[in-house]
Amino acid sequence: MTSTGTHPMHTTDTTVRASDYFGALTFSGDVMLKHLAPDVCETLRRTMTHGLPLDPAAANAVATAMKDWALEHGVTHYSHWFQPLTGLTAEKHDAFLSPTGDNGALEKFNGDALIRGEPDASSFPSGGIRDTYEARGYTAWDATSPVFIMRGGNGQGTLCIPTVFVSWTGEALDKKTPLLRSIHAVTSQAMRVLRIFGTDAGVSGVFSTLGCEQEYFLVDRELFHERLDLAVCGRTLVGAAPPKGQQLEDHYFGAIPDRVLAFMADAERRLFELGVPVKTRHNEVAPGQYEIAPTFENANVAVDHQMLTMQVLRQTARAHGFECLLHEKPFAKVNGSGKHINWSLSTDTGVNLLDPRDETHTNMQFLVFLCAAIRAVDVHAGVLRASIASAHNDHRLGANEAPPAIMSVYLGDMLTDILDQLEQGKPRSTAKGGALDLGARSVPSIPRHASDRNRTSPFAFTGNKFEFRAVGSSQAVAWPATVLNTIVAESLDVIATELEKRLTERPTAEQLEQAVRSVLQDVVKKHRRACFDGNGYSAAWHKEAAKRGLPNYPSTAEALKELVTKKAESLFAAYGVLTPRELHARHEIQLEQYCKIVQIEGRTLSNMVHTQILPAAMRAQGELAEICVATEKAGTRVPDAKAALRAVASHVKALRTALASLDASLAREVPDLEKRMQHCRKSVLGAIEKVRTASDELERRVPADIWPLPTYAQMLLMR
Ligand code: ADP
Ligand code: MG
Repeated sequence: MTSTGTHPMHTTDTTVRASDYFGALTFSGDVMLKHLAPDVCETLRRTMTHGLPLDPAAANAVATAMKDWALEHGVTHYSHWFQPLTGLTAEKHDAFLSPTGDNGALEKFNGDALIRGEPDASSFPSGGIRDTYEARGYTAWDATSPVFIMRGGNGQGTLCIPTVFVSWTGEALDKKTPLLRSIHAVTSQAMRVLRIFGTDAGVSGVFSTLGCEQEYFLVDRELFHERLDLAVCGRTLVGAAPPKGQQLEDHYFGAIPDRVLAFMADAERRLFELGVPVKTRHNEVAPGQYEIAPTFENANVAVDHQMLTMQVLRQTARAHGFECLLHEKPFAKVNGSGKHINWSLSTDTGVNLLDPRDETHTNMQFLVFLCAAIRAVDVHAGVLRASIASAHNDHRLGANEAPPAIMSVYLGDMLTDILDQLEQGKPRSTAKGGALDLGARSVPSIPRHASDRNRTSPFAFTGNKFEFRAVGSSQAVAWPATVLNTIVAESLDVIATELEKRLTERPTAEQLEQAVRSVLQDVVKKHRRACFDGNGYSAAWHKEAAKRGLPNYPSTAEALKELVTKKAESLFAAYGVLTPRELHARHEIQLEQYCKIVQIEGRTLSNMVHTQILPAAMRAQGELAEICVATEKAGTRVPDAKAALRAVASHVKALRTALASLDASLAREVPDLEKRMQHCRKSVLGAIEKVRTASDELERRVPADIWPLPTYAQMLLMR
């Protein structure tokens, strides 16, 4: 198959350097300088970095400048761009052009249109927060994320203004609002800790930082379109395993095929233009699987950039004759895709608070942040698990390729040793063999352990950040990041409160160290059970985790209830992240989405089997029967052909039976949402699996020229 070539707007000109066009399609940096008067530019910069409101005069000036800049790029429309609870992004385009009443028209865009909008977006899920008769939903500019020009497939651009989306009562209808609230929560608690340590001098704020590694598959677009399951559900619902999978491990980090490299370079260029600092690219474990990762950014911007990354990957793939599959498990028995979210906290002066540095007081401070994260994972394992729960991710979590559904923290030898010492509370004066002694006044540096290659941990400390690896590849990262920020905020709060209780106004260094040690000792003793460095895939760990009392929710159907416990309600309410009503709304939407996904899969599969797979199998059965009859007529006994016929006939029978029970379970109406979810999990998904088993048996027996679907080998190996 041939590639449809690179995007007309984006031919790769090697004389142009990436730094020349980085951020060219965002209203920031040089673009701002060029289009705004210096005082307005400064006002806007303050708004962007500190989220301060923009006065109306400045807003008008900024809007006009944005419009002029957009018009220079041939842009005709603008849109408030937001992240509704569907997990996708939403845009509603308005033209700059307004009629003047005398048969003329003018391009207009003012501060008001920049700052707020009222999209008639009543059809987005609101989980009961907003009934359609009171359909007012507002979008409000989030100036901390840069405005950008997004190009469509034909090069047509739209000026996109990142916004939050709230109801007329101010309740969050989107994923950005709670994210911003959670960032505020965790950064203010972090500031409190800095104040206790006296390391807040010159620091005017703390950022939550995020870097998201995105895994994805590429398949040829023509093959993709021959498969209803891929086109509708994003994953194959049937398909026998290919003769060669990932057992040779020859794809991982292997040379990137030319066609794929051309796609990657193009996608990267588009992302650079949007200011997304993509950094690494490589082949992943499975054939046809790849990864792209940016340099980390301020979490708010990183979350928007992650949404753009997914969009650009999909769009660019099409321009190159591919389809980009972001589903967590597009192919059974082949590795699935995740999205590792790397998370830390950093001061605005550039100090990474999870960097194990070499000065004593900073080390103790580091241990506070480390222990806060450990405590957070232990106390709130349930909501953390729920934050990554989806019908898609269920196919991946807990399988022998992705982190288990048990939330635990990987620390590595160095930090494990430090926790040991802390727990024993036996201060020694010198560190030996690189092990750190907490009692020492001049503690040697903790070597950064870049050694973590334990891929089985869902939440790993990797040198100077935590890596949350259980996140699904298609997921909007705003929600898991929100949960992470919130649970760490709570732990920092608890630890800071304990410290403040024990400390006087101006503690000596010794008093401070003693207080920290004793508070952290308690935390470590209580919450260390969440730490596990061994093989997360092993049955032994499942047993051990159960013994430690760690929750293990193998599926979304069990995990989601963790969102609506009293504990979860008070957690999110206490830090102003979500009211109980907002939380329940999210829970309800997730239940509904789960049911819808499973039902759509069931209906898609039923359709494919009725109209494609069964007819093909019948044809094969008929051919074999004819051969048997004809050969026998000719006077030859045909035991082999008869056995083949019997095998096909028996799998056809099994397929029919499985299909009948799939259709029956799809037809059953279950009005209660909780019960519907259980029905989907047990009955519908169970039936889907049985249909698949029978179909895959047939795929191995039906002649290739009759089999109606592209095979795994065609999609994954033949490129
Ligand atoms: P690996 O594949 O070994 O996990 P990568 O280099 O592919 O490593 O990805 C690491 C990710 O972590 C990158 O996106 C990187 O920018 C990000 N990262 C590094 N430091 C931080 C930090 N302090 N906060 C958040 N993310 C970080
Ligand atoms: Mg990683």
